[in-house]
Order: sequence, then structure tokens, then C-alpha cells
Amino acid sequence: IDYSDHRPTQAIVDLTAIRHNIQLVESQLNDGQQIYATVKANGYGHGAVPIARAALQAGATGLAVATVDEGIELRSHGFSQVPILILGLTDPRGIAEILHYNLTITISHLDFFKLAYEQLEETNQLGLFNLSKLTFHLALDTGMGRIGLRSVEEIEAFKAGIKAYPWTNWEGVFTHFSTAGGGPEEYIEEQYNKWVELTEAIPEEVKVRHIANSGMGMWHLDYPTDIVRLGIAMYGIDPKDDFDNPITKELRPALQLVSELIYVKKVEKGSKVSYGATYEASEDEWIGTIPIGYADGWLRHYKGISLNVDGHACPIVGTINMDQLMIRLPREYPIGTNVTLIGTDYKGTNHASTIAKEVGTIGYEILTSIGPRVTRVYL
Ligand code: PLP
Repeated sequence: IDYSDHRPTQAIVDLTAIRHNIQLVESQLNDGQQIYATVKANGYGHGAVPIARAALQAGATGLAVATVDEGIELRSHGFSQVPILILGLTDPRGIAEILHYNLTITISHLDFFKLAYEQLEETNQLGLFNLSKLTFHLALDTGMGRIGLRSVEEIEAFKAGIKAYPWTNWEGVFTHFSTAGGGPEEYIEEQYNKWVELTEAIPEEVKVRHIANSGMGMWHLDYPTDIVRLGIAMYGIDPKDDFDNPITKELRPALQLVSELIYVKKVEKGSKVSYGATYEASEDEWIGTIPIGYADGWLRHYKGISLNVDGHACPIVGTINMDQLMIRLPREYPIGTNVTLIGTDYKGTNHASTIAKEVGTIGYEILTSIGPRVTRVYL
């Protein structure tokens, strides 16, 4: 049973849209360029396991997540062979799990190997190295300022130091661009130049070299990359929440967030609604209650967003509660009437990107905020 099977608030995820979006990006790639489906944060709120499955069916050849636990979740759900790259840094004390589950990790510091070795030694698990080598990609910081080596000198020191760890497999090297999804375009060029400078110092045997997220993978493929770590575009959302870009226009948003009216009443002019009594009906009004709130990721500051009911944009009235919120209806509607929070009802559309712009955030945050009580349903 799902967490909230008895509540009509659901995220309906169209896996055909996921496959379509992957194929759209794939059609722009050259032979040999691969897509790793980025399914961190529970597949950007869509559900990591079903998204991973759909993405691999559509031609992705690897998966990317942020944490070891997310990698283990995938391995435990049947993804036994496909490469799983952990994009964030990991704790060396998790080395046994990393080896056991054959996860590819990101390295930003030589110390990881020393601490990982000591951990296995202390716990009498050095035999794990007989199973497989520790596969890793080295992170380079070309201007994101987050993780990774920043200079040729650091890379030279790394190259010298890694020789002490023959139980490792240095498979790849990568960087991340900070303005591919918005910000000064010229900074992309700057980061790319740094990438070229740094990667010249990387040994030739390190074959897999990748720089692309969705923005780079759709708009900047003139900068070569072996892998596109495809996130937001796979879910059908433009990284800049822009509808007019000729490439991203073809993307299909995969997620709809829907619920139902669970209570409907007529209130008299002057009635107050919700905590703090901030809303006062300016005339006799029909008010509907919806079972979703800030604990589901429909945050308090979304109060300016209207929800779609039967083609009508119905404003949220009063504060959003933890589990419920109220909207103003144009007329009486029966309990059980559909309400669309994200997606399209037969007349109106609440696009995640529009909502993001209205509340001053980005589509990524709208989607990843959808909480675990919201049942995911797959088409
Ligand atoms: N690569 C790295 C290192 C990331 O951190 C992320 C996401 O934040 C991605 C790729 C995927 O980015 P996007 O969702 O913009 O495609």
C-alpha cells in the first residue's frame, strides 16, 4: 500500500513523455555520445525507479543520482548491471556498500582512498577488493565553485597520488556548468576553456569525459561531451522555464499533480477562511477544500497560484495549511470534482514552469518539493 492510497491527491506521471523527451535529446547526439538519466531526488519527484526503467527503455545507458542511498535503492530494484554514477561526494565510511553495490563514485580528493582503505581494514573487509575495483570519476571545478579539482597542479598531485591505490578504476572525469540553465552565456565559454586546460593534464587512459546537463545537452552540443547527464529536460521542463525555445518546445512535461474537492460550502459575505483569518469573503462565495498542503510540497508561498477546476482558474483563499487548502469556486461543484494543480484540465494549464515563475523559483524546485504522501501513478 502506498503512503496515501486513500487520499485523492496524486502525481500522475506519463512515462511515454519521459521516453519522448529522452529520444528528442538523443536525436541531437552523435554516435558514441550517451545519456545518463539523472534520477536523483526521487527522480525529480516523479519516482526514481519507474523513471529509470522508462529512461533505459528509451536508450539511456546509465543512471545518475546524488547519494549512495539513492544508488542502493536503484540496485535493489533490479538495476543490477547498468552504471550508476553518484554525482555528489560520498563518505569513505560507506566504501563497503559502494563496492558491494558496484556504484561509480565522484572523487574530489585523494584522502577518500586512504580513509576508505582504513575503513575496510578496520572492519576486516579488504576482501571486497577481490570482487571489483572501485570505479570513480574525478570532478573538476571549472567555475561552479562546488566540488572538484581546480588547477593543473592539483591534478598532477592527484595523478601521482592515485598510483598508491591499485584497487581503483579511474574511469572518467567531469565538470558541471553553472550558467547553462540561466546566467551569463559568456561564462559557459570561460568554463569550457578551463575544462580544456584541465583535461589536458588528465591521463589518456581516462576515457569518459563529460560536461553536459540538460542545458548543455540541448543548446551547447558544440562543446563535446561523452555523456549527457540528463535531468530536468527528461521530465519535460526547460531548464530556464522558457516555453519559446525551439528545442525545448518539443519537450513534454511528464507530471500532473491532481486532487479532488473533498468539501464544498457556501460562505456568507464577511466570512473568514483559514489560519490567521487573513481572507474575508467579499460576497457570498462557494469555497472548496482540497487535501493537499505544505507538507505535501504545496508550499505556503504558493498561495497566489490558482488551481484548475472544470476549466476555471480558482484562486487559493487564505493560508495554505499543512494538509489542506481552500479555493474559491465560481459555483457549487460536487465533492469528488477533479482539481488540477500542475498539468492540463480540459481548458486550462498549470505548467510547472509558470508556477515557478509566479512564486519566484524554478521548475526543479516545484517538482522535487512534491512530498512522499502524494501517491505516484504511472501511465
Ligand atoms: N549533473 C550534475 C553534476 C548535477 O548536479 C545535475 C543536477 O543538478 C545534473 C547533471 C542534471 O542537471 P539538469 O537537471 O539541469 O539536467
